[in-house]
Amino acid sequence: MQHETVIVLDFGGQYNQLIARRVRENNVYCEIYSYKTDLSVIKAKNPKGIIFTGGPNSVYLEDSPTIDPEIFSWGVPVLGICYGSQLMMHLLGGRVCRAPEREYGKTEVFVDNSSKMFTDVQPSTVCWMSHNDYIEQAAPGFKITAHTVNCPVAAAENEEKGLYAVQFHPEVLHTAEGKKMLHNFVYNVCGCTGDWKMDSFVENNVEALRKRIGSGKVLCALSGGVDSSVLAAMLAKAIGKQLTCVFVDHGLLRKNEKEEVCSVFGPGNANGFDINFICVDARDRYFAKLAGVTEPERKRKIIGEEFIRVFEEQAKQIGKVDFLAQGTIYPDVVESGLGGESTVIKSHHNVGGLPDTVDFKELVEPLRNLFKDEVRQAGRELGLPEYLVSRQPFPGPGLGIRIIGEVTPEKVAIVQDADAIWREEIAKAGLDKEISQYYAALTNMHSVGVMGDERTYDYAVALRAVTTTDFMTAESYNMPWDVLGTVTSRIVNEVKHVNRVFYDCTGKPPATIELE
Ligand code: GLN
Repeated sequence: MQHETVIVLDFGGQYNQLIARRVRENNVYCEIYSYKTDLSVIKAKNPKGIIFTGGPNSVYLEDSPTIDPEIFSWGVPVLGICYGSQLMMHLLGGRVCRAPEREYGKTEVFVDNSSKMFTDVQPSTVCWMSHNDYIEQAAPGFKITAHTVNCPVAAAENEEKGLYAVQFHPEVLHTAEGKKMLHNFVYNVCGCTGDWKMDSFVENNVEALRKRIGSGKVLCALSGGVDSSVLAAMLAKAIGKQLTCVFVDHGLLRKNEKEEVCSVFGPGNANGFDINFICVDARDRYFAKLAGVTEPERKRKIIGEEFIRVFEEQAKQIGKVDFLAQGTIYPDVVESGLGGESTVIKSHHNVGGLPDTVDFKELVEPLRNLFKDEVRQAGRELGLPEYLVSRQPFPGPGLGIRIIGEVTPEKVAIVQDADAIWREEIAKAGLDKEISQYYAALTNMHSVGVMGDERTYDYAVALRAVTTTDFMTAESYNMPWDVLGTVTSRIVNEVKHVNRVFYDCTGKPPATIELE
């Protein structure tokens, strides 16, 4: 079934994925393409609307990203955002130049409510601006529908042709009524009805997987993270016993994580998933390999390589499989440079290098078109428990990189216990939804303390909690002192060999979210 589709054309903006997510939140399917994409490809998608993103360049300079103006005559509505708005004006005969007064941050914008874009929007509304150039003069045939104190054309439109330009960024939450504006564009201007919903996505995809896989065998590496869990659940629903999931317990998991995964996917689980589930106890091998290793990159490497080794051994026992399942999601696709204009950040194989070492015919990646929040939603539709579906990101090397210095079973036990207390108390304080990521780590430091009149010489635990929207930059969370107090006394009392607790106040940059 072909969904109503809106296309985001990326001119190098920071918010390309955000725009697409906002459109999808309105139940309209949306894909991102580079502005360099052949227009025939875009046209063949039969889009209901097109959105041009922002971008760092200046439209009036040579070599700046541009597009064939033919696109404006397709009769498909186009919304230009920031650079996109400037480009639309520039190409259609308006004038864009360096603004005498650049605007950055929250800015009061005066809008004309008679515009379809601004139905039900306050006449004076706060929007997020980030520009050095501005539209000095709108293109012929365009009506100015918004302005600010410094910006004569904050929005313009040619209603008849379905062309809309906004200088501000409706996709960021700082734009108070941005959601409404995008909703207005997608429904009032593009005429979408909203046929993109997670329940139908799950249904259609389970059906499609069944067809594609037929009687084939599928192998899936299950990490217990959100993506691989949703992937496994979807395949379980589609093909049951034809699926084999391999879960590797490398001894570096969070407290109770193994039990949680086994209770959801293991034999006799309450969800009725009937699959071949293999849980490999590789703890001893990992600890043996990691003995004496302190250098972070070496640790990461060993953990990654050992994973492949273990997985390979299992795969050999299973023999030839027809499909290897991977939990690739849409941001991975965009960041690999396949969609959008962002440079290749990383090439993604969920489990590094795996496809080269396992004998299989094809990859199945049923989550390829989904954003993270949609993956979680699909997981809920599939009946996965909330603790799996709302899990925070957890690095592949697990607790191995949350223990400074050598990794030993004793140290792992300390971090697991301290981390469980930290999580529990944050949830109790009702802060879990507000903080993007939080964990406890073990510093390699011993210090002197006193407990029950006796001198102690024990470890120091570090607590971390950050807020971030994109995980590229982050801020340390302003944690209430009483929460820190409760957690500190619980950790020191309940976890043996800890006599000191630190809270990490550093943002990213200059620090990273993880310690190693
Ligand atoms: N580079 C353009 C400007 O400075 C557009 C900025 C943007 O898209 N955020 O105005």
